[in-house]
Amino acid sequence: MGAGGERTEAIMREIASLRAKRDELDSRIRFFEAQLRVGGASPPSTLPPSLSTKLDAMGVHAAAASGGLSPDMVRRYSRQLLLPEFGVQGQRRLSRSSVLVVGAGGLGSAVALYLAACGVGSLGIADGENIMHVEAYVGQPKVKSASAACRAINSSIKVFDHHLKLKSKNAVSIVRQYDIVVDATNSIASRYMLSDCCALLHKPLISGSTIGLKGQLTVYNHNGGPCYRCLFPNPAACQSSSDNGILGVVPGVIGCLQALEVIKVATRVGEPLSGRMLHFDALSSRFKTANKIHQKSSTCTVCGSNPNFTQDDFMMFDYDSFAQSTKSSNKPTPSLNPLPKNARVTCREYKRLLDSGRAHLLLDVRPVHHFQIASIANSVNIPLHELKEKLTRLRDALSEVADVSHGKHRPLYFISQRGDDSQVAVHILRENGFPYASDIVGGLESWAQEADPGFPVYW
Ligand SMILES: [Zn+2]
Repeated sequence: MGAGGERTEAIMREIASLRAKRDELDSRIRFFEAQLRVGGASPPSTLPPSLSTKLDAMGVHAAAASGGLSPDMVRRYSRQLLLPEFGVQGQRRLSRSSVLVVGAGGLGSAVALYLAACGVGSLGIADGENIMHVEAYVGQPKVKSASAACRAINSSIKVFDHHLKLKSKNAVSIVRQYDIVVDATNSIASRYMLSDCCALLHKPLISGSTIGLKGQLTVYNHNGGPCYRCLFPNPAACQSSSDNGILGVVPGVIGCLQALEVIKVATRVGEPLSGRMLHFDALSSRFKTANKIHQKSSTCTVCGSNPNFTQDDFMMFDYDSFAQSTKSSNKPTPSLNPLPKNARVTCREYKRLLDSGRAHLLLDVRPVHHFQIASIANSVNIPLHELKEKLTRLRDALSEVADVSHGKHRPLYFISQRGDDSQVAVHILRENGFPYASDIVGGLESWAQEADPGFPVYW
């Protein structure tokens, strides 16, 4: 190769290097231009005004580069931007929305993660509890780990944690700051409280709940749809989930669907579940949507035609007692007459009896699957609903114990989870001619606190 060839090669290299530099500069210029647009300043139009008007009349609009989304947003959300139903407008609406997720448990953590990933503008998480089930974080506020996970998944959104239990006294000032509220508390009292608060402040409420292996989902206070009270003016009709087990996947499924409803409400894409209720049955893997749940009730005290529930009423309302009052009247309890004092022993008294080694029979009246989780050594399981049919066999067993104890003490004790069912059991025995039965006050909950701190607490 001659001198001329070498020179040509050097020039080509120089050109290539300059081009690369120019591309980089162009890319930086586009980035800064996009930032200007996100901040509200739009670049001057390069189209002549007459052509621009003609194009507008045809319904064709000149591009605002990246539709007002930053290059980072375009890269991050490209998959959802490609959905024609969603597109740039959906993403823009989402990034301007603010969502409050109340509850950072199974439902709430699923909702929050998906909302963070899809790019809501601001995400608030409210929860007053500490973590019990994630080994690395036991004892830490749930809300801290949930918000940390959301920030880790998307650092471009604003995440606010409210480490408190949302109550009627503090809810208005927090809910007011957000556009959309998610009820992920799975508690009847909170469900009423949040629905009332959202109805008063005119905020849509995405309400999810799970009980056992079933889940439900609906949207309240949206586009003239009903509130929770329109459907359930009285808590007696509601089911509580607190005494039932939960398989973590079920709140995970419902939580993801709650995030989906938030996206639909925020972006105005699709048909949110307002005035409709989705039911999920994990065992049969069936989803059903009830399209005719009650519509907005004109007589609803909170959102009806003549509502008489003010913000002051709301702040004074005791939701825990309201939910509790009808819950207990809803429970089919055979007898609630108080037991005589000599038919009750405390956990400490029973512990002394146990330590003394005196012969007796301890009957645990919880359901079988509870008994299998944890029980006191040598106790015998007869679930409360089977007690009456097993009385004859019980009488035989007791006569043996009574022989050994020589009638010096009451040979029969009952225990339940919280000390309610055990009282019912003692009543049943007394009504059937067994005078020597005692109830252990406070049940296994008190037992774990007062007598045996090592007892596995599963509730
Ligand atoms: Zn209502």
